[in-house]
Parts: sequence; C-alpha cells; structure tokens
Amino acid sequence: MARYRELRRAYEQAKEAGKTVKIWRTAGDETVRDSHAAMDGVAVGIEENFEVGGEALFLPSDPDASLDETANCRCTVEYEVAQAGGAAGNSAEIRIEMLPIHETYQAWAPPLAWGPWKNLEQEIVSENYRVEYLIEAETRSNAPSSFIGEVEYFNVDHVQVRETFRGSHYFVLGDGAQVPKALFRSLSLGQNIHFQTRRRIISPEER
Ligand SMILES: [Zn+2]
Repeated sequence: MARYRELRRAYEQAKEAGKTVKIWRTAGDETVRDSHAAMDGVAVGIEENFEVGGEALFLPSDPDASLDETANCRCTVEYEVAQAGGAAGNSAEIRIEMLPIHETYQAWAPPLAWGPWKNLEQEIVSENYRVEYLIEAETRSNAPSSFIGEVEYFNVDHVQVRETFRGSHYFVLGDGAQVPKALFRSLSLGQNIHFQTRRRIISPEER
C-alpha cells in the first residue's frame, strides 16, 4: 500500500505538471514477473489503465488488482507529454498512408538488452526544416516474440528526446540538420528486427 501511495503521489504531480502519457517501467532484472517484463516501455494516456496479465491496473501495485500482479512489485512509471501525433503512437495509423516509404533497415534486438543504435538515413536539410517520421517495425524471428524500440531525436523545441514504442511510432524531427536514431530490445529471445521509415520533409513555409 505504501508503494502505491508513493506512485499515486508521483502521478498527481505529473498530472499537475501537464504530463499526458504514462509509461510502465520495470526494475529490469530477472526477478521481474513475465507479465510485467512485457509491460516495460508500454505507454498509455495518463488517465487510462494499463492492461497487465489480463487485469486493469491504474498504476503498478494498484490495490484493486490481484496479488498475482501486485505483490512485491517494484515497477514504476515515467511521465511524458504526448508529441503532436501522440507519443504512444496513437494516431500513427491515421498517417501511415499519407507518408511515402523512405528506407528499410535490419536491426538486432538482443535478449533483455538494447541492441546497437541505427542512424536513420537522412539527407541533411536545413535546420529550419522539420521532418515527419513514421517508424514501423516487425520481427523476422522464426519464433516471434515481443520487442520494444526506442528513438532518439531533436523535437520541435530542439530538445533531444528518447521515446519508447511498440510496433510503430510517429514523431517530428524539429531540426532537419540532425540525424534521428533507433534501437531495439527483445523481451525474450534475441531476434532480427526489420523496420522501415516513412518520411516527409516540412519546409518552413508549410508550417
Ligand atoms: Zn512489477
């Protein structure tokens, strides 16, 4: 209960500060339950429930959930402000057809560890240009299992940010002279990830 009160306080503060997205984080070691390991990096709206092992948890250690999903849980939550287009990738589906496919990549997602960074192909355009990206990733492993990705880029406020995603992720690079990058982590066995980017350059006149 003390644990939940602590997480609940952090939630109130994040909401107060204008955060709109919450992201589940585990302690990242071997004693994390499988159902929670699968949640690492999952983002939902700040008022929404996480779906964990078939149960709805407002936050880790939610006292309304069963002990199976809460006893001794050390998981925590990070808070973010959704980017235009949705940090959780919510509106990515809407935009997929609008953006031309730009490039395809292969990446390695090691078991329970992050793989190497992959720079996203980018003709350098002026820093006054924004670049709209959609990353779509899937496993090429024979025994498909879950994985998460992370992107690092300079946002429209020219601040370097890192965002976690599953499957697809939409983001806007705020400075066309910067190169965004991505990496992947398997939540079980190591796997080959195939990913592609869709991309559109937005000139200063367009915005
Ligand atoms: Zn946990």
